[in-house]
Amino acid sequence: NIELSPSSGVLNYGQFLLFSCLNQDPCYISLKQGLFEGLKAYRKVGGGFLLFRPEENARRMQMGADRMCMPSPSIEQFVVAVKETVLANKCWVPPPGKGSLYVRPLLIGSGPVLGLAPAPDYTFLIYASPVANYFKEGLSPLNLVIDDEFHRSTPGGTGNVKTISNYAPVLKPQKRAKSQGFSDVLYLDSLKKKNLEEVSSCNIFLVKGNFISTPATDGTILAGITRKSIIDIARSFGYQVEEREIPVEELIEADEVFCTGTAVVVAPVGSITYQGKRFEYKSGAGTVSQKLCSTLTGIQTGVLEDKMGWTIEID
Ligand code: PMP
Repeated sequence: NIELSPSSGVLNYGQFLLFSCLNQDPCYISLKQGLFEGLKAYRKVGGGFLLFRPEENARRMQMGADRMCMPSPSIEQFVVAVKETVLANKCWVPPPGKGSLYVRPLLIGSGPVLGLAPAPDYTFLIYASPVANYFKEGLSPLNLVIDDEFHRSTPGGTGNVKTISNYAPVLKPQKRAKSQGFSDVLYLDSLKKKNLEEVSSCNIFLVKGNFISTPATDGTILAGITRKSIIDIARSFGYQVEEREIPVEELIEADEVFCTGTAVVVAPVGSITYQGKRFEYKSGAGTVSQKLCSTLTGIQTGVLEDKMGWTIEID
């Protein structure tokens, strides 16, 4: 049984912890079971706050909980907890255009059990922290590298759910990429080592003329909520969007490449380096990614009409 009860009020900057609930003593944290989510609350021009598709995060947590043998909050419980957390911390939501309140729900197993079995108790809590816009001075293109020594996910594993361990495999390759001057790593599938998967914390899209392609979420890729939204926006603009297997060779032909995720929203990719070859892509004014990005951020911040009904207004 999951019952929500707000556990505290506003804490210090960057340390909000609200809505700790479920049963139990988080001193005994399960090393096996943990799921998290990430979404943003924006302050609207003229007052009020907007949440972007929180029920999608709730659904993704439920799907992950099933894979991880955990109970999960209902969609309603999840959304209520997110709303209350934002409202209790509304003084920390940055002014319009200056950033957002990043909200991180977390579901973890707990209880005094060492063995390989689902935990006896579970804790659901939400952290929140103000964050600036990811790119402070407009969009700056990412320079990615494909590192085929490492993989972040494997078929039948848990790469398609947001477990707390999913960032563990990417730390070392990311560190190596950064030390070589790259922004991040683009991963290939772990079996054939030839199809694109995703970047450490965002999904990837290729643009070629009127076609936009993104790897299908076949069990090894996280089904990003930004990805899903960008697919709908791109289709509404008349682009042909395909979710499919994308062999790495297609990088040679692409006009544009961009990444999507809650943190980056839509980030243009300036270059991708693979086996020593560097492929460069269009970025900046007049690109497809810029058009998609300004539409999505316009909806998220209440500047554009939300025809899709994606935002929830709270105040
Ligand atoms: N892939 C991975 C591995 C991620 O961690 C994230 C961030 N949640 C994404 C993609 C993008 O998902 P979303 O658009 O829901 O933030």
